[in-house]
Amino acid sequence: MAQLTDDCFAFGGKLTQVDEALDQLKGTLNPSLKSEQVPLVGALNRILAENIISPENVPADNNSAVDGFSIYYDDIQAGSETKLPVSGRAIAGVPLGRLQNRGEAVQILTGALMPDGPDGQRPDTVVMKEDCLLDDGAVLLPEGIYRGANCRLMAEDVQCGETILEAGCRLRPQEIGLAASIGCGHLPVMVPLKVAVFSTGNEVLDPGDSLFKGAIYDSNRFTLMQLLKSVGCEVNDLGILEDDPKIIADALLSASTECDLILTSGGVSTGEEDHVRKVVEKEGSLFFWRLAIKPGRPVALGQINDTVFIGLPGNPVAAMVTFLQIARPIILKLSGANDSVPKSFLVQSNFSYKKKLNRREYVRVQVKQNGNGKLTAEKCIKEGAGILSSMVFADGFVELSEDIVNVEKGDFVNYIPFSELGL
Ligand code: AMP
Ligand code: MG
Repeated sequence: MAQLTDDCFAFGGKLTQVDEALDQLKGTLNPSLKSEQVPLVGALNRILAENIISPENVPADNNSAVDGFSIYYDDIQAGSETKLPVSGRAIAGVPLGRLQNRGEAVQILTGALMPDGPDGQRPDTVVMKEDCLLDDGAVLLPEGIYRGANCRLMAEDVQCGETILEAGCRLRPQEIGLAASIGCGHLPVMVPLKVAVFSTGNEVLDPGDSLFKGAIYDSNRFTLMQLLKSVGCEVNDLGILEDDPKIIADALLSASTECDLILTSGGVSTGEEDHVRKVVEKEGSLFFWRLAIKPGRPVALGQINDTVFIGLPGNPVAAMVTFLQIARPIILKLSGANDSVPKSFLVQSNFSYKKKLNRREYVRVQVKQNGNGKLTAEKCIKEGAGILSSMVFADGFVELSEDIVNVEKGDFVNYIPFSELGL
């Protein structure tokens, strides 16, 4: 098929497919093995370095889930109300202090230990206060109570010896809370990956500088640095490099001695002033260069000394998409994080679309929900690789896999919410 001259994919030659590149790379990447202990309060979003095994049962003993009366279920009279004398009180942190006998009820508050009983027996049921009537030192229990009601059992949440958290998981508030619940005050986490970030281009200026004719502000460095932080990296902002092979080579070589990974944007295309790729080829090794992804291609993946190099395209949306689809999984692997494939959801497209075979495309969309709960994906009107405002309008991507060439309005398509990508 003839290539259109305004098609930025018109270079010809074989493109590497995204999965092929990722599979090959992931097989060769060695995750960092460095870990450190952090207090729980500083553990959010860090990657757990070791399995956590609980030394405790949670709860440590049977206790009440409500305010009410602790009873033996077998004291309940079938088919009628039951009346039991109330003969004690147990509150959270202050147990009954004696055995509870058959035939008595003990007032019990939420979190209080279920009393022990004589001869290996034990009250096993709590009747909610609201369901009972108090009558002259006795409690009238309603019908329909079931055995074990309102009683939290020992170890029903966590068992002593159980692995509660697995190495490689990202610590969310709930993981941190679960660690606290077993009495763990510090967690072993991976040392963050150190990433050097450069922008490239003679025309690229820092926000705040005054623009000369033809200049643009650097947006990539700011989106990329935040994306890196969102996956837990320590970011080293190394500014903007001129389109000069010597300057680029010096900067990349120097960064390679200090960082685990170098991330650049721009300068990896086929233009005369695109020096980044050539420098990596000369000073290190280049694994892949042109990936079959839109928006995105070209992406350069390589190595300088022991440092992984990822060169993203200059166009801001292409830089973001390729970061999310290529750099992010590589960074997660290098950080010791478990592989987490972003979930996609089937939604109906409200647009038609044509694409090339063997190329993966990410269409920026906003999902709308109608009155019946049906979800449809609306494509952004402006969709160029440089239209950064489209990423603000969008709430996710429709991912069109390599085998798809045509989407009709109403077709079900794979929608990946930005939240699945940490955005
Ligand atoms: P390049 O691959 O270097 O030719 O970059 C392609 C296009 O991306 C350039 O023409 C710029 O419009 C844009 N671009 C490159 N670097 C940046 C940057 N750091 N921030 C915003 N846009 C950029
Ligand atoms: Mg450039």
